[in-house]
Amino acid sequence: PNSRANDGKPRLLLMGQRRSGKSSISSVVFHKLPPPETLYLETTTRIKKEYMHSFMDFQVWDFPGHLNYTDPSFDTEEIFGEIGALIWVIDAQDDFFDAVTKLNELIQYLQENYPEIIVEVFIHKVDGLSDDYLSDTYQIIVDRVQDELEDSGHPLGNVSFHRTSIYDHSIYEAFSKVIQKLIFEIGPLESLLTTLCANCKMEKAYLFDVLSKIYIASDLSPSDSSSYEISSEYVDLVVDISEIYGWDRNELEGGDTEQIEEDPEVGNQDAESLIVLEKKNGSYLYLKEINKYLALICIMGDDSPTDRKALIDYNVGVFQETLKQIFPR
Ligand code: GDP
Repeated sequence: PNSRANDGKPRLLLMGQRRSGKSSISSVVFHKLPPPETLYLETTTRIKKEYMHSFMDFQVWDFPGHLNYTDPSFDTEEIFGEIGALIWVIDAQDDFFDAVTKLNELIQYLQENYPEIIVEVFIHKVDGLSDDYLSDTYQIIVDRVQDELEDSGHPLGNVSFHRTSIYDHSIYEAFSKVIQKLIFEIGPLESLLTTLCANCKMEKAYLFDVLSKIYIASDLSPSDSSSYEISSEYVDLVVDISEIYGWDRNELEGGDTEQIEEDPEVGNQDAESLIVLEKKNGSYLYLKEINKYLALICIMGDDSPTDRKALIDYNVGVFQETLKQIFPR
């Protein structure tokens, strides 16, 4: 399928109308811009292709909202040819009817020309909306997309909807759900994490892309946002620490520079890998850097796991080795 670029990595495309929040999303998630500072961002007025130096190395193509992809001079193959998921951003605080119309046109276009691309709708800027207003808005958008697709005889199959805001964790969780659909190895990864949890009496385990705080897999036990929040805050701590002790992530800065050739041997010795076990907010957290881009974070509950630390280290070591076979890159 064409859900992977030539380099074998999933690619995401971010689209939507002007001021819907595309630049803000990519700046906050991939460049650590504090959300309030997005107020001063210039709106997207050109096609931006960004290289993400994350494990997945996916690219966000940030589109100007007014771009006409049906124009014959437009190289659609260049844009859509290698995309796994198209994320369409709708500003839920604004009049969204026009955005939904444009989205419907695009879905039809994709279903006819690029049927393998999954479409993910981010109903965005949901902060500041009342629950009632939000659920009405959400339902109206879903219904309008669904009705339109049914009328034109297309299945809704590959269209999903998410409520997002850059002011909380929802944007990261939505990206996590999207990226997980693009990882072919997600099934084995989830099984490995589930086994790890069972063997080590862990409550929850996440495999995080450290740069973006998007988790690319978790164990199969039910997830709640508070475990994600605890874990992602911990990842932030690691990024700081690792600048001093851990993997060399200096080349990860500056998202839109040329892709950097990497020597797989450098920064990949286990000796450099950071392992932490500490109690935070009443729960023990175990963290281990798995490679340059990924960290494993496990929530252990309030029972001190120090007596089984050796067992945990061993099992995590096995997990890390297996991961190398799944992702030899
Ligand atoms: P673009 O034209 O699609 O790239 O839109 P921008 O990223 O420039 O965003 C337009 C405006 O929306 C900016 O003032 C952002 O601060 C604001 N914005 C973006 N995301 C959110 C969000 O999640 N919540 C709120 N309240 N405002 C947002």
